[in-house]
Amino acid sequence: MIDESAPQLWLFRPKPLDDELLSSWLVRCAYANVRKLHSFCTSTWGTRHHFWERDLDRTTDIRLLAVLAESTNTARSRAYSTTLAAYEGLLFERFVSSGGLPWVMPIVKKGRKRFGYGMQFCPRCLATDEVPYYRRSWRLSCFVVCPVHGCYLHDCCPSCGAPVTFHQGDYGEKVLPYNITATECNKCRLDRRSIQPVQCSGNERQNRLMALQTSFADAIRTGWALQPGGTEKHIMALSYFSGLHDLVRALCSRSRTGRLREGCEVEMGIEDLEAELSIIGAFDSFRLKERTKVLKMAAWLIERWSDRLIDIALEANLASSYFFSYKASTAYWFYSAINENLNRSHYHPSIQEIKSCKSFLKSNGLLVSKNNVHRWLGRYFVDKRRYVLREKSGDRHSN
Ligand SMILES: [Zn+2]
Ligand SMILES: [Zn+2]
Repeated sequence: MIDESAPQLWLFRPKPLDDELLSSWLVRCAYANVRKLHSFCTSTWGTRHHFWERDLDRTTDIRLLAVLAESTNTARSRAYSTTLAAYEGLLFERFVSSGGLPWVMPIVKKGRKRFGYGMQFCPRCLATDEVPYYRRSWRLSCFVVCPVHGCYLHDCCPSCGAPVTFHQGDYGEKVLPYNITATECNKCRLDRRSIQPVQCSGNERQNRLMALQTSFADAIRTGWALQPGGTEKHIMALSYFSGLHDLVRALCSRSRTGRLREGCEVEMGIEDLEAELSIIGAFDSFRLKERTKVLKMAAWLIERWSDRLIDIALEANLASSYFFSYKASTAYWFYSAINENLNRSHYHPSIQEIKSCKSFLKSNGLLVSKNNVHRWLGRYFVDKRRYVLREKSGDRHSN
């Protein structure tokens, strides 16, 4: 007896390719079966599906994934691994289908149109693929360079500046074009495979960035990463990425930790770091150039972890508390380096230090009080200036 509710095998059944993104796989399935994308989705899942009005790659819709898996004779687990949700436990602790998600770039959409630059591509990957397809890692803000080809990714069409919307290749066509590929810009028709790649090599900063990109790719592939700080100790990829996300957030912060960014610009040479690019804001929403600048700073700090960060933080008078959020847990390697070196509550001056400080204050005609000694030794103190002013103004009134 035939179960009519069970999905039928499609005539052509492309399997997901290495690290292929769900939306890329679905587009290939439609084109392989010589159907326009939306009529293909409607005939398979009915008119009530809204895949393309949402961020499809963040779906966990079992109906979509099960039908896709069974119609292409693919294991359900493999179908699930094409989603961004499958990065749970690697890049973030808990997946959410909407709202901010560490390292996942937003696509910014209205209806089926996309305005954001949350999809990237490597021209060399597309040009050398037997069947061009889009990778899951191209949706991640931590990648600005292709770890395979060593060239910069693109987050828009270099000819017209349009976002990468490869699922719109058949928009406006009455029938599916004979030679349809998902590699053409749907605005100016530039074939992304023809773009000349720009290599990320030649100077120290680029080499350092390249090494960081390779370590990201390795961590995602294996689930493990070398703990920053020159140790040979391996840590879980989740801990590695969690600490790194805290680091880039501190670098892009509008708050006090932004001094870290200013310190990096001075130490690394601001003119070499694209001085005009503002990197204040949400890292995961930045365009490629801004993310490149931030990741170059992060790579430089990680190279001598945590000496460089601590030097800048001490110079900028940054205490450990500025780096941590009470809302979220912090990766141990990141927390311990900062807490050990920048937590001022751990500092207890010796009797000799207190004596020296008192004698310094006395010889300079300054107030010798416990509060003032704390202030000069960099410990917690109460700023009494405004009380002094108030007292003075009170005196004036009474006179
Ligand atoms: Zn590539
Ligand atoms: Zn274009």
